[in-house]
Amino acid sequence: MDTHFTQPRPDMTIHQAEMFHTNTGILKTAEGFILVDPAFTQADFERIAAFTDPHPILVGFSTHAHYDHLFWSSLFGNETPRHCSEGTLGQITHHRKEIVDEFLALENDPYNVNQCIYNKHLALLSCLSTGLHYLNDISVAVVAIPGHLQGQTAFLFPDYQTLFAADTLSNTEPPSIEGSWQSLRDYLETLETLGELIGQAAWIVPGHGDPANPSEAKARLEMDRRYLEALQNLKVDDFSNGLEALASEFVMHIDEPRANSSDSWQIHLQNLQAAYIWLN
Ligand SMILES: [Zn+2]
Repeated sequence: MDTHFTQPRPDMTIHQAEMFHTNTGILKTAEGFILVDPAFTQADFERIAAFTDPHPILVGFSTHAHYDHLFWSSLFGNETPRHCSEGTLGQITHHRKEIVDEFLALENDPYNVNQCIYNKHLALLSCLSTGLHYLNDISVAVVAIPGHLQGQTAFLFPDYQTLFAADTLSNTEPPSIEGSWQSLRDYLETLETLGELIGQAAWIVPGHGDPANPSEAKARLEMDRRYLEALQNLKVDDFSNGLEALASEFVMHIDEPRANSSDSWQIHLQNLQAAYIWLN
């Protein structure tokens, strides 16, 4: 199997994209495959489709309305049902153009023919309420975990003892908040929810980074909590030496190891900028 794939269980494979280390969950059933957060570049789509071939993709799920967790390819079937939370569907309804444009800006090609394809696929998402559902002979618990983004959802598959935790519990980046004080409060509450969900899974798959067992996931949860509480405790005066100085001091003070790549440092700076705005 190529290095983009890891297989924590025989019936559960994770594809990790090169960009942002975004994870796609690939669950095997007797009839075909289930995809969670079906990646976002053509190379990702082709690798995943080659992996699942010749079996059909039965259903897809998206944890939240950021483009790297949301897109879909005709390689997975044009009519395949796909689900997200009501909050995620609301984000897509109101921000579809921004979501697609942000993604297309990555490729720096304003005439990208994929634009209409993405628009078409986003229009096919339908919403699932929170709670336990039975789809394609498997059960899935849909749990709201806002904070990083409104509408963000965790999917717990009891038959696979696997929790897809969206953009939380990463080992490669600190928490990223949507920008408001309320998001920070929501995120801290979400950590309580995640603490309970971790206890029901053997594998915890973050949106970015490596899958974790429960003890590793609990350690990440405590890192997330330390980071968010330090953000919550910031004062205006802390910014007096400038953003970069505060950013370095902040990670040293709480011993945060995950802001060490250029992408994760950007997330960290954006969180501090958001804090500066709500403090003023
Ligand atoms: Zn995200």
